[in-house]
Amino acid sequence: MDVFDILDRLVAFPSVAGKPNGDIAGWIEAHLAEQGAKVTLLPGPEGDRCNLFATIGPADVPGYILSGHMDVVPASEPQWSSAPFALRRDGERLYGRGTTDMKGFLAAALAAVPALVRLRLARPIHLAFSYDEEIGCRGVPHLIARLPELCAKPLGVIVGEPSGMRAVRGHKGKAAARVVINGRSGHSSRPDLGLNAIHAMSDVLSAAVSEAERLTHGPSDPTFEPAYCSLQAGVIAGGQSVNIIPDSCTLDLEARAIPGIDPAGLLTPVKARAEALAEQGYVVEWKLVSAYPALSLPQDSALAALLGELTGGAPLAAVSYGTEAGLYQGSGLDAIICGPGDIGRAHKPDEYVLARELAACQQMIEALGARCAA
Ligand SMILES: [Zn+2]
Repeated sequence: MDVFDILDRLVAFPSVAGKPNGDIAGWIEAHLAEQGAKVTLLPGPEGDRCNLFATIGPADVPGYILSGHMDVVPASEPQWSSAPFALRRDGERLYGRGTTDMKGFLAAALAAVPALVRLRLARPIHLAFSYDEEIGCRGVPHLIARLPELCAKPLGVIVGEPSGMRAVRGHKGKAAARVVINGRSGHSSRPDLGLNAIHAMSDVLSAAVSEAERLTHGPSDPTFEPAYCSLQAGVIAGGQSVNIIPDSCTLDLEARAIPGIDPAGLLTPVKARAEALAEQGYVVEWKLVSAYPALSLPQDSALAALLGELTGGAPLAAVSYGTEAGLYQGSGLDAIICGPGDIGRAHKPDEYVLARELAACQQMIEALGARCAA
């Protein structure tokens, strides 16, 4: 199967994040086993979805991980020109949900496997394909935790998120949290008998706004745009009617951190203000929904130099989106981003990848294989 056949098969699985993924993982497992790779499915704690790890070459020697996610965002936008889960080719463009983010990378890696197998690698190349990346990198931590039993400590991780095949050394970290304030309902004419959850939430909201302002004067890193850490309230919901005391209010927050700063820690002052509401009788629930650390691979690292040679261009310092690379780096592995497609085409109707981008990616992986050969 060539890269287009494989992409066609991958796109046909509507592997939307947050759902069981046995179909796509099972197909990739069978396909890789047929090519002679050693494949392991790693079920997550949810019980109905799994990560996949495969090795070509000797697992007990340090090698490289090619990392991608099998899940995609939903494709319910009415603007799609054709069925999102059916690959459509129009000249250079291959349309379908996930073509850019990031089944194109998975397809290029899978298409390179027969060549890697033929090379009789002295250093292994591993494929690490995760689930539920699109809802806060929930799957990959379970894969990272299993790495020590699966292979010798890798020399580096290449995360194939869409970067136009330009290597990228950095991104900010991110944390998202949901706070729910529960008060007491009643008729609005008797506010003395109720506990207004929306009024209480205004405390939390103003804490978020003042933290956001404070961060603009905080630590900064000129690699990023903006250079400082940031925080925002993204969704607020509560109440039923103007004459009912609202008994519940929900606020979703996120924070983005430059390297060296814990993104979840940026939310701590807001959390403290929410928890203080308990003194007034409110019941406060705070949940950290997702978090991943920033990525910051030094310019003079061996992995950055390797990718510079493989792609023919110096790695970019940073991009604005986040990836699993921060989690790999957090576990003590060097990680870098490099993949086909453009992030500007992701999470949109008529998402596409270019045929030449897939070819360039497959070529890069085969060139990496040549370096890993005996
Ligand atoms: Zn992605």
